[in-house]
Amino acid sequence: MSIYDLFNIQGCTALITGAGRGIGRVIAYTMAEAGCMVALLGLHRENLEKVAGELGGKCEKILVLPADVSRRDEIDASFQQVESTFGRLDICINNAGVSQQVPAEDISEADWERIIDVNLKGVFLCCQAAARLMIPKKSGTIINIGSISASAVNVPQKQAVYNASKAGVVMLSRSLAVEWAPHGIRVNSLSPGYIETEMTRSTMSHLFPVWRELIPMERLGKPDDLRGALLYLASDASVYMTGHDMIVDGGYMAR
Ligand code: NDP
Repeated sequence: MSIYDLFNIQGCTALITGAGRGIGRVIAYTMAEAGCMVALLGLHRENLEKVAGELGGKCEKILVLPADVSRRDEIDASFQQVESTFGRLDICINNAGVSQQVPAEDISEADWERIIDVNLKGVFLCCQAAARLMIPKKSGTIINIGSISASAVNVPQKQAVYNASKAGVVMLSRSLAVEWAPHGIRVNSLSPGYIETEMTRSTMSHLFPVWRELIPMERLGKPDDLRGALLYLASDASVYMTGHDMIVDGGYMAR
């Protein structure tokens, strides 16, 4: 087997949450370009349809699944559709997430619930639904998108709840990795550093110069910078890796 064969995921099926824009859109591209059939899950159908249109030529089969990751009924129905369309799920990448910058003393209970529900409960519900498809096949790989905010308190933005939700994603991934290893399922998290997307541009673009100063590579990341790590974690190249948090951050956490 050539070294490149280890990275071969051609013909696999992959589900990506939050696939309508930003990092999720690039994850969808990466999986499609690597030869997977893809299921695109996200809140707004129009965003998913746009990505599906862009991927059209690259992908044998595309499924568009408008759903809220924090709603069990919507997630269960979406994964059932994956099973009836593809017959199996090989790769599940849980990327959907929300952020909010508010001082901890002011954050409302409703905002706490929204952030934890999407970022942590949503990841759990999708992992659970994925595992129910993967366990009978005794194989599968799950990648949960964490963040450097899981292990560092980034400044100057105030986002205690977001940080806590991402720390939860990393520990949840480790826990599920241990529970599901006997079923042939690997679970890892991929934690990006600062990436220029709608999430960071919409409320924090004024902080970009501050962040650049803190990043040894002296630039924010682009969603494309995650492609290699994604293919590595999704494929047999990482066959003996589970429960790992892979950080891709331009050296930010190395300081
Ligand atoms: P964006 O805000 O650009 O995109 C978020 C995506 O998540 C959107 O496609 C959105 O759907 C989807 N989404 C939001 N809420 C839900 C929900 N309830 N159910 C289903 N889908 C939902 O964010 P990024 O691309 O920047 O971030 C993607 C992930 O990466 C997040 O988990 C984020 O925390 C993480 N991350 C981002 C970093 C960054 O610097 N950008 C750094 C570290 C981690 P729709 O398109 O329909 O609105």
